[in-house]
Amino acid sequence: MDTRITLVLGDITRQHADALVNAANSSLLGGGGVDGAIHRRGGPEILAACRALRASHYGKGLPAGRAVATTAGRLDARWVIHTVGPVHSAEEDRSALLASCYRTSLAVAAELEARTVAFPAISTGIFRWPLDDAARLAVRTVREQATPPVEEVRFVLFDEDAYGAFTRALAAG
Ligand code: ADP
Repeated sequence: MDTRITLVLGDITRQHADALVNAANSSLLGGGGVDGAIHRRGGPEILAACRALRASHYGKGLPAGRAVATTAGRLDARWVIHTVGPVHSAEEDRSALLASCYRTSLAVAAELEARTVAFPAISTGIFRWPLDDAARLAVRTVREQATPPVEEVRFVLFDEDAYGAFTRALAAG
């Protein structure tokens, strides 16, 4: 059975899914955008788990393109998968790193046997990735990569612009 890709307009911290993906920064210690919202609503347990990761495997932080799971704290999910998107650059093509965020997050989700996974539009906020390009890359990568046990990949888009970009990317495909 193919993995279903669905789109929702809304706030990822209000979603119910086995895993919610956080567009984290490499410090793993919180930030703005999705990251701030996840820590605010998820509570201190997530930050404590992130600090433990910094104290063990990720002493220098989580590099762009990688993903790691923690508890979801008070969120309506079993895990938060933290991934660090690349900052968009006009001089350098960093799309392989952005694709890697989706791929490695899905690999972590599969390892955890998550069946439903919600993603934000990674890198399209503070990291300034143009929405249409980010949406095409996200949809293409998820289509190539998603396999059981992941049954649904849900993109949770925060505003109409992002929702429109993902709708076009999904229809093009
Ligand atoms: P990045 O640093 O990877 O660019 P941001 O969190 O700044 O991450 O933004 C990524 C995308 O998530 C942007 O499109 C932004 O509008 C959106 N966003 C911000 N807050 C939320 C939220 N609570 N739920 C879902 N998407 C959000």
